[in-house]
Amino acid sequence: MSDWLVLPLILLAIAIGWALGRRERKRSRYYEMGLRHLLNDEPDEAVATLVTELDVETDSIDTHLALGGLLRRRGELEKAVFVHENVLSRARLDRATRHEVQIELARDYLQAGLLDRAETMSVALAEENPEYRSDSLKVTLQVYEQERDWHRAIETAKQITGDDGGTSIEPSISHYWCELAELSLANHDFVAASSHLTQAIGHDARNPRVSLLQGAVALKSGDAEAAIHFLERVLDQDPGYVSESLLSLEQAHEQLGSGERYRTYLERCLDRDPSISVVLALGRVIQSSEGDTALARFIANQMQKNPTLRGFIELIDLNLIAAEGALKQNLELLKQFAERLIVDKSTYRCGSCGFEGKRMRWHCPSCRNWASIRPIIGIEGD
Ligand SMILES: [Zn+2]
Repeated sequence: MSDWLVLPLILLAIAIGWALGRRERKRSRYYEMGLRHLLNDEPDEAVATLVTELDVETDSIDTHLALGGLLRRRGELEKAVFVHENVLSRARLDRATRHEVQIELARDYLQAGLLDRAETMSVALAEENPEYRSDSLKVTLQVYEQERDWHRAIETAKQITGDDGGTSIEPSISHYWCELAELSLANHDFVAASSHLTQAIGHDARNPRVSLLQGAVALKSGDAEAAIHFLERVLDQDPGYVSESLLSLEQAHEQLGSGERYRTYLERCLDRDPSISVVLALGRVIQSSEGDTALARFIANQMQKNPTLRGFIELIDLNLIAAEGALKQNLELLKQFAERLIVDKSTYRCGSCGFEGKRMRWHCPSCRNWASIRPIIGIEGD
């Protein structure tokens, strides 16, 4: 077992000791055993002693739940399941506490990838305990998310909305419809994709993913004008995702031959989101209308305001066009060096848990939040 568990376990052991201090002293023997294991750097034995030998009494259930939750958060899932099953089998619990322990157990199953067990348990709990229905269904929902069963996720999430009477689940439902739209888009079923996206708007009218997908559907359907209309919405919905729209926007304007209109839009984007993706897109437009010198002047000017390695590489490329001899060799070396600095760098990061990756994901694989991953802004990023 890792060192990370030792300090929390010592704190838990102290809490258990305090509880036992109020009871018969003979039971503190196991507490002392557990603490001795901890002090001897034997945390596995300490957990075994604390979990299996301690009586599960009303006043120690919170401690057992804290221990089980700690083990699950740290990925010690077998031990977490053991703790929670132990409480269920050995304690006399009131209805609310029994439900709380069972939900914890369903969460253990979920994290362990035992999705069938997590689903069966959480669905049964939702039916048995109407007063805690939302709690149980939130676990069921995570099962369907992991299984990518978006229709069942939508049905389940709608029930949670009803129970809560709130709107916190609405953005997630919007993303479930987006997932269905992406599947339809991949199958070239543009009618179904559009219909799913209409549903997605109904649950979150400001979801930039919907606009990006509507743009993609319009572009693939051959309607470049509609694609531009949808894709330009992203700027007002969330400027941080403008970079995700630029490839499709460029294609749409190319089809329409509307470079100047695209340039005006990109200049507006630059005011609100001076990312290197916008700078490079605007640079391509400037290059096609005014040539390499104008492009080099523009990039150099932007790099003074917001220096990034991608911009620096672009600048070297532009200087390489006219360079010769030793200067050319030096510039090529500089370019290789700059490219090596960013080749292994992540380009996206989750704002909730810090997960990083090189491709855009709308559902964080680590913390499971929706739309928490964004392009990384900074000298090595966008
Ligand atoms: Zn995350």
